[in-house]
Amino acid sequence: MSERRGPKALLAARRPLPAHITVYLFVIVPFLALIAAVPFAWGWGLTWLDLALAVFFYVLTILGTTVGYHRYFTHGSFKAKRPLRLALAVAGSMAVQGPILHWVADHRRHHAFADKEGDPHSPWLFGTSPVALARGFWHAHLGWILDRDQTNQERFAPDLLADRDIRVVHRLFGPLTILTLIAPALLGGLLTWSWLGAVTAFFWASLVRITFLHHVTWSVNSVCHMIGERPFNARDKATNFWPLALLSMGEAWHNLHHADPTQARHGVQRGQIDVSARVIWFFERFGWAHDVHWPTPERLAKITR
Ligand SMILES: [Zn+2]
Ligand SMILES: [Zn+2]
Repeated sequence: MSERRGPKALLAARRPLPAHITVYLFVIVPFLALIAAVPFAWGWGLTWLDLALAVFFYVLTILGTTVGYHRYFTHGSFKAKRPLRLALAVAGSMAVQGPILHWVADHRRHHAFADKEGDPHSPWLFGTSPVALARGFWHAHLGWILDRDQTNQERFAPDLLADRDIRVVHRLFGPLTILTLIAPALLGGLLTWSWLGAVTAFFWASLVRITFLHHVTWSVNSVCHMIGERPFNARDKATNFWPLALLSMGEAWHNLHHADPTQARHGVQRGQIDVSARVIWFFERFGWAHDVHWPTPERLAKITR
C-alpha cells in the first residue's frame, strides 16, 4: 500500500465522494439523454443551427484536448506563448474530461506503464480470453474513469503543478463545465430568439456533443490499443485505426504516438489526415507556437518496423 500512496507513489488520495458521484452523473446522464432524444426530436427538435453549434463546440473542445491537454501539456510536443497556453488549457477543460492536472497525470502514467500493471486504462490487464478482453475493453473505454483512485500529480505532473496559471485553470474546472454546457444554449436561444432554440441547442450542442466527444476520446484508449495496424515499433499494443482518424483529430494514429510520444504529428504516413497537427502548424505560422517537434525522416526510420 505504501508504494501506492506514499509521496512519490503512483496514486495519491481517493476521489472525494461528491466528485465521484458527479463522474457517474456525467457518464450516464448524457448517454440516457441521447437515447431518449432521437424519437423525441425527430423532425422538429433538431435544426441546422443546432448542428452548426454542435460541430463548432465539438471541434473547439476536442482540439483543446488533442492539441492542448495531450500533445502540448502532457507530451510537450511544442512550446506555446502564454495566451495560447491558457487558451488551450481552457478549451481542453471545456471537453469535460476532468481537470487538467488529473488528465495529464493519468495520461503520463498511461505512457509510463503502457499495457502493463500501473497503466490506468489498458484493455490488456485481465487476460486474453474473449470474456477477459470484453472486460478489458469496458475498463479501457469507460470503466477506469469510475475508479476512485487518483494518479499522483506530484509524481506525474510536477511541471504543471508548479505553474500558477495551470493551477488556476485546474480549479476553474467546475465553472468551465458550466460554461461549456450553457454557452451553446445561450447562443441557440439568442440566435433564434426562442426558448425552444435554447433547449434544442442545449440538447444537441451541449449534452450530445459532450457524450459523443467522450466516446471518441475513450475509443482511442480502448479500440486503439486493441484493433488496427502496428507499422511502428511501440513497446505496447497501441494501434493505428483509420476509421477514427478524422473524428479524433488525428489521435487514432496511436501506434506512431506510442512509438515516439513527443512528436507533434501522429499521422505521418501518406494520406494519414491529422487535423491537430495542421492546427499546430497554423499556431507555428502565426508565431504563437515554436520549437515544434515535427517528424523527421531520421526519427521515423528509427521507429519503423
Ligand atoms: Zn495509448
Ligand atoms: Zn499520449
